Amino acid sequence: MEQNWHLSAACGAETVELFFPSHNPERPSAVAETSYIQARELCARCPVTEACLDDALRYEGLTGFRYGMWGGTTPWERRRIMLRRRRAHPPLTFTPERHTITV
Ligand code: SF4
Repeated sequence: MEQNWHLSAACGAETVELFFPSHNPERPSAVAETSYIQARELCARCPVTEACLDDALRYEGLTGFRYGMWGGTTPWERRRIMLRRRRAHPPLTFTPERHTITV
């Protein structure tokens, strides 16, 4: 994965209000939805959408905290993506009864 993808980002300090509107990340308000519509238009023209979304999903998977528009997706859209991925690829679990050691 490209490490410095943010250097090619279409967004920046001047657009941060669009990407991180003040609201409850799980319950969109009308203001947030309007901001996200404008932010998504910028993301649609961005050359690093995939790397941006991958990093957001990785960070949110580790922290459980979702906020803002990343890779053209809202927090609740990324939550759905994460749930779909977990259903498709459940984490491996160790079950002792399936791993007996014979001496
Ligand atoms: S995809 Fe959107 S949020 Fe990500 S860097 Fe590009 S413009 Fe910014």
